[in-house]
Amino acid sequence: MNAMRLSRSIVGEAEAQAVSRVITDIGYLGMGAEVQALETELAAYLGVRPEEVTCVNTGTAALHLATLAALPPGSDVLVPSLTYVASFQAIRMAGCEPVACDALLETGTLDLEDAEKRITERTKAVMPVHYASNPGDLDAVYAFAQKHGLRVIEDAAHAFGNTYKGKKIGSFGDIVCFSFDGIKNITCGEGGAIVSRDPAVNEIVRDARLLSVEHDTEKRYAGSRSWDFDVTRIGYRYHMSNIMAAIGRVQLPRLDREFAPARRNLARLYRAQLAHIPDIAFFRANLDEIVPHIQPVRVLNGKKNALTAHLESKGIPTGIHYKPNHLLSFFGHGRVSLPVTEQLASELTTLPLHPGLNDKDVLWICDEIKKGLTA
Ligand SMILES: *Cc1c(COP(=O)(O)O)cnc(C)c1O
Repeated sequence: MNAMRLSRSIVGEAEAQAVSRVITDIGYLGMGAEVQALETELAAYLGVRPEEVTCVNTGTAALHLATLAALPPGSDVLVPSLTYVASFQAIRMAGCEPVACDALLETGTLDLEDAEKRITERTKAVMPVHYASNPGDLDAVYAFAQKHGLRVIEDAAHAFGNTYKGKKIGSFGDIVCFSFDGIKNITCGEGGAIVSRDPAVNEIVRDARLLSVEHDTEKRYAGSRSWDFDVTRIGYRYHMSNIMAAIGRVQLPRLDREFAPARRNLARLYRAQLAHIPDIAFFRANLDEIVPHIQPVRVLNGKKNALTAHLESKGIPTGIHYKPNHLLSFFGHGRVSLPVTEQLASELTTLPLHPGLNDKDVLWICDEIKKGLTA
């Protein structure tokens, strides 16, 4: 038996055939027709226009280009400390400053009251993170942004395929960034996408993924090259390849058919088995709307380390999502104190969750959690 994994890609023969088709039938591995097709299919899935979706090579690149396109350098961006370091690095890459904010105890998402206290004249955007796929009170985030004149860049890396009040995440709002890395709800191997309704943002990110060679995307999609062109701003090599897009095109229809029901079922089973245990607390989440990417739980009463040690000894991996960014040397060295985030960091442990697990696996994990807590 293979060792149990915390998370993993679910890919197989169909993805392998798609890659093989790009290599042997198409023979053009870079950015071309497959990427255009994936953007069109993502747009159809989300219910937006194809030109509103821009695929790039990572979710981090998506966040970087979104920040670059929306904000002048030197802007402050309000962002929860409880996120992957990708959010913080992406803001810095764009020459902006991530301002670490506290989280809500019930959801792990951005605490807007705390964020409001950190607004200055430099503050130009808020980057909510859909922690464990939960967008939290997104209406309140947009009302907050409107009140303070801020752009919204959603870090929706965990939230592809989710809805909010019945609307797909990415189908509304300002700028939404997805990740298609190996373990996210769908994968392209690596990958990401920027979805925006703002034509100015879309024009910049489309060019900036290709060194800001003007209109290179359109030329590549028409099967031609740019030999004579102009460049007017900074650009990067962040485009997606046809190989990556081919994997994504197979994964996309599998999401609602296979991955989403499997992830929701396992998440519901964890809750049914563990919700009544006094040492365990779950974040509030609406599993009818979210496709859970990870399964964090709070382990209360100082029992986290003993529990994770017990689980590891049984071959059950656990994870940490996340070490708070404000405690990292590059992002504040703990100079600000964010009490809820720090409490959550001391309690949170992530349990295995991916569609390669079955009910029996989760029942066993839950049994071992009960044993580990009473040992
Ligand atoms: C995965 C992730 C990212 C970055 O995505 P990559 O595709 O890995 O670069 C950003 N933010 C969060 C919260 C993530 O989980």
